[in-house]
Amino acid sequence: MVTDLVCGMEINENAAGYSLILGGGKYFFCSEGCLAEFKRRPQDYLKGASDIACCDALLEKEEEKPDV
Ligand SMILES: [Zn+2]
Repeated sequence: MVTDLVCGMEINENAAGYSLILGGGKYFFCSEGCLAEFKRRPQDYLKGASDIACCDALLEKEEEKPDV
């Protein structure tokens, strides 16, 4: 598992649809939005944690599928 530096979500690097190679490192993202945000200012995210939650809420909703 790797961490999406933008929203902090853990993602499976084998299944991640969005990744970026930058400065010799490879980074994975849960969504196109996170990838775009990272590209805008990668130095901010590489520096440390961010409080931005662009997509956590959406993903949590999807996981809460009732057994009907
Ligand atoms: Zn994300």
